Amino acid sequence: MTDSTPPIRFTLNEKKLRESLANTPLAQWTDALINAVHARDEKLHQGLMPRWQAALDALPDIVVARIDLDHESGVTVLTDEDIAAADADASSEPYTTSESAKALEPALKELMPWRKGPYRFAHITIDTEWRSDWKWNRVYPHIKPLENRTVLDVGCGNGYHMWRMRSMGASTVLGIDPGLLFMMQFQAVQHYVNDKAVSILPLTMETLPPNMQCFDTVFSMGVLYHRKDPHAHLLELMQSIKPGGELVMETLVALGEDESELKIDERYARMKNIWTLPSVPLLARWLNDAGFTNIRCVSVDITSRLEQRTTEWMPYESLIESLDPEDLSLTVEGLPRPRRAVMIADAPS
Ligand code: SAH
Repeated sequence: MTDSTPPIRFTLNEKKLRESLANTPLAQWTDALINAVHARDEKLHQGLMPRWQAALDALPDIVVARIDLDHESGVTVLTDEDIAAADADASSEPYTTSESAKALEPALKELMPWRKGPYRFAHITIDTEWRSDWKWNRVYPHIKPLENRTVLDVGCGNGYHMWRMRSMGASTVLGIDPGLLFMMQFQAVQHYVNDKAVSILPLTMETLPPNMQCFDTVFSMGVLYHRKDPHAHLLELMQSIKPGGELVMETLVALGEDESELKIDERYARMKNIWTLPSVPLLARWLNDAGFTNIRCVSVDITSRLEQRTTEWMPYESLIESLDPEDLSLTVEGLPRPRRAVMIADAPS
């Protein structure tokens, strides 16, 4: 006997996407976006899709009393019971929860590793590998207010920053990322937050429909160094932005006051798929060459071992294992340890 059950694969919920994008500046692009996703169907790495889908199906229906997308301890979804417990006891000891909420932790753990966050669902805090809130704190004070803006987050991961963008008033937030585990983690968050203004699609920047020119703000954070041709990435970003819109670029940079770049041979801080790291002046030049104006660097920061580390929810090796134990200013490859810059620029009107 053969097993004829078709394998569980990622399927786009087209109806939901259409509902989300209707009456937004993205409505006219809905068909093109759906076609772009279907064109990649065969390329998607399905990973542990049956397990991830089972985890989503197992998420309990808790009665949400408060959603706080901007909470200092992470994107937060609370029940009445959590709020009452927190009011009664200021300590952060775990407290009793309803029967249904007990299914939450095992389901969320099936979606590990959780890299970007933190999140809090009822009594469960997901302490992620990255303190993505720290990155957001370096970014948001410098950007144009997001009220009523249509926003694209390129390489959005599980969508952590999209919730922060939404809480700053963005009217529509679209995230794209090729990673399907991130897609499923996003759906777990969306299961509770249930906000149709925020959507995610399994696309790369290269496969987004060209020339959309309809986003008021485009974020590309942690993506540029993954592109063999960074100039193509910058041009694609430019083509997605509305004339007069804003680009927010966060990326790894090389040391240097001059225009210089550090070409990566095989690995950088144990990561494959890193091609070249520009100095800040060279990155500014690249942005200028792509047509951006008013280019400024608002932050350069060496990633600390407190910002990226092993946690209960991401139990594998992290930043510390990619640094030289004898000299923490270097990676295990003997290169300067990761430093990241935030650049902001305008698309010409
Ligand atoms: N933006 C988030 C996540 C960065 S991790 C943050 O700053 O915290 C980098 C992400 O970029 C990964 O999730 C990876 O899947 C995605 N990515 C890699 N290449 C990409 C491409 N060509 N287009 C879009 N996303 C890409």
